Amino acid sequence: MNKKVRVRFAPSPTGGLHLGGVRTVLYNYLFAKKNNGDFIVRIEDTDQSRYVAGAEEYIFDCLKWCGLEPDESVQHGGNFGPYRQSERKDIYKKYAEELIKKGFAYYAFDTPEELERMREDFKSENNPSPQYDNTIRDKMINSLTLSENEVARFIGEGMPYVIRIKVPQNETISFTDMIRGEVQFDSSLVDDKVLLKADGMPTYHLAVVVDDYLMEITHAFRGEEWLPSAPVHILLWKYLFGIENMPQWAHFPLILGPNGKLSKRDGSKYGFPVFAMNWTDPKTGELTEGFKEKGFIPEGFINLLALLGWNDGTEKEVFSLEELIESFSMDRVHSGGAHFDYDKAKWFNHEWIKRSKVSKLRSAIKDLLEKNDLPITDTSMLDKVIALVQERCTLLSDFVDQASFFFKTPEEIDTASIVPKWNDQKQQFFRELIRTYKLTTIWNAHETENALKEIAAVHQLKPGELMLPLRIMLVGGKFGPGVFDIAEIIGKEETILRITNGLKKLSA
Ligand code: GLU
Repeated sequence: MNKKVRVRFAPSPTGGLHLGGVRTVLYNYLFAKKNNGDFIVRIEDTDQSRYVAGAEEYIFDCLKWCGLEPDESVQHGGNFGPYRQSERKDIYKKYAEELIKKGFAYYAFDTPEELERMREDFKSENNPSPQYDNTIRDKMINSLTLSENEVARFIGEGMPYVIRIKVPQNETISFTDMIRGEVQFDSSLVDDKVLLKADGMPTYHLAVVVDDYLMEITHAFRGEEWLPSAPVHILLWKYLFGIENMPQWAHFPLILGPNGKLSKRDGSKYGFPVFAMNWTDPKTGELTEGFKEKGFIPEGFINLLALLGWNDGTEKEVFSLEELIESFSMDRVHSGGAHFDYDKAKWFNHEWIKRSKVSKLRSAIKDLLEKNDLPITDTSMLDKVIALVQERCTLLSDFVDQASFFFKTPEEIDTASIVPKWNDQKQQFFRELIRTYKLTTIWNAHETENALKEIAAVHQLKPGELMLPLRIMLVGGKFGPGVFDIAEIIGKEETILRITNGLKKLSA
């Protein structure tokens, strides 16, 4: 029987969630759902020096907003917990000691000063930053160079120590990456990474392997930046749990900005978001803008992320989450870097705002308009407005310009665009239009348009010449959806009021 697919996203709670991080979540999620598997979120917080308050909650808020809810996590529970590594501290030590017993790891007692001296002493032109590795370990203070008695004494005396992996010399470490195929490393170039720190906490390398094993992870997917760590992880799998039990690996391509790897700095430099949601660094107070607050909707954001490094082999670009689950496959994830193009990102969002059900957009737009001092009391009117203007909005924030005038009589109107072609005849026409509108009992786009056309015919005016002034009077400027649709929604009284105001301004 095949094992149930189990994948994990394993963030360290160190700050905002970068585009690349959310894409890792998305591809994990899609793969899990496509294969009826489980998607697990594990918080990797063993490095207390990098811990940032609030970052964990923020990660879960982002996943919620994206609609990518885990099956198991700190917040969702599950049978493989705890899902926060700092609560699993006691688990790891025994594996580190097991490695020592098997001869695959050793105690190292070198002080920070001794390590510093080592880096100085072994520095050469060919080796500018020497590492603790197979060429150096036998010159250091560790259980490979000390006698058994000395080691026992040092430990007995409470001398601080770390446990390091003993990476073999001249071996080829290889594995098959689901995206990159066969990947090989020369073990002689890999250093003896610390597995257990002096404070008894595991390093990421040990914790990730132990937890992937204990949580029965079948596929481990992460960003390309983790590829250099893979040989250490492969060795640990081999030494502890057997290579045949190792998950299948995939390393996702980098996301590239205008100058190489997309960075937070690119965002502020070029004015686009890089994080999923607004993130304020608790230490510096620095705010980094998120896609959500910029006006992206989850459907647009998910769609643009999915296509950053994957396609389904056709020209199709617009995918719902359900369609992505259906179409996603690992063999179509590209191995080369994926270029982030903000205009294209906005294009996806526009496509999704156009397609969205009004009910899905309603609360975000209501909030937005209310933040802009436009209290919304009539939700059914809001729904009509959204339906009418949604195709004109690329970002949610565009609704402020496109929808405000429905709820508020424009204070300023662009009379300068009317004046050049304005004359008495048009003035007469609009007066009569007001009279007719006052008498109209059925108020809708069709009736208001017919009335305008009939009066225009009597005045020998082309309806087209009257539409622009009417639009400017109703809207304030030369934009917006069909002018009679606007009149229908704002209603008879308001339409008449705005035309009256317009005429006053034009004759002032
Ligand atoms: N804790 C690592 C990170 O912060 C996870 C790497 C992995 O998925 O193995 O991204």
